[in-house]
Amino acid sequence: MGAAFVALILLERRRPLRADVESKLVRTIRNSAIAVLSALVVARLDRPLIMPVARAVERRRWGLLLNVPLPAAWRGALAIVLLDYTMYHWHVLLHRIPGLWRFHLVHHVDLDLDASTALRFHFGELALSIPWRMAQIAAIGVTPAALTRWQALFFLSILFHHSNIRLPIEVERVLNRFVVTPRMHGIHHSIVPDETNANWSSGLTLWDLLHGTARLNVPQEEIVIGVAAYRDPTDVTLGKIIAQPFGPQRPWARLPAGEEPQRHLPVATATRLAS
Ligand SMILES: [Zn+2]
Repeated sequence: MGAAFVALILLERRRPLRADVESKLVRTIRNSAIAVLSALVVARLDRPLIMPVARAVERRRWGLLLNVPLPAAWRGALAIVLLDYTMYHWHVLLHRIPGLWRFHLVHHVDLDLDASTALRFHFGELALSIPWRMAQIAAIGVTPAALTRWQALFFLSILFHHSNIRLPIEVERVLNRFVVTPRMHGIHHSIVPDETNANWSSGLTLWDLLHGTARLNVPQEEIVIGVAAYRDPTDVTLGKIIAQPFGPQRPWARLPAGEEPQRHLPVATATRLAS
């Protein structure tokens, strides 16, 4: 996992997809500090609560997949697919429910997007996701083995699609038919609200295509990364972003001058990945 992270950072230096706004060093330190707080929540809360649910699922045969006749390999693969699908819905809720958005906002107000952003989730967001994940595991019927496999895949996936790597567009278009890629997720991190409210998948692209929430036709050089109401570097210092969910919230979709950023692209090309 650590090796994947280092490899992504080296590739980001060699072939960056978008130009940096803030200093890479400052952002990496800031995002790593958030990651340390999150790692504490994962170690103290997530792991002690989540794994026992998966063990109970296996022992008591709870959940959908353990109650339908399926070969074991199918069961393991479907558990990962259904976890991915229900993560799509969790991501939608993070954006739609104000009480969750104020935490997820901390991830989105990063003024650049790279592999370090993949580690920058407010500890409150991680804590709030625990009941959802317990429900996912119990309802789907996720065993400890399937959970461990999904956790590794999910982590690799978010590292990859947050990274600032310029893949050849032809390669990325092929990959993007199956999984979320850096250009696709870059559009989700745009300051244009219609683009933030799109591309919610975090593993398979399928879910956005299925729900009509894929928006792929935005060229990367036209994207401004971040959230409209928090464009100033002084808005996103370490202390401010840790405290951000607990204080008053700005109307996030509006620029400081009051207008909402917009972009008009033909709907017909929405599912063709732009360069
Ligand atoms: Zn998001």
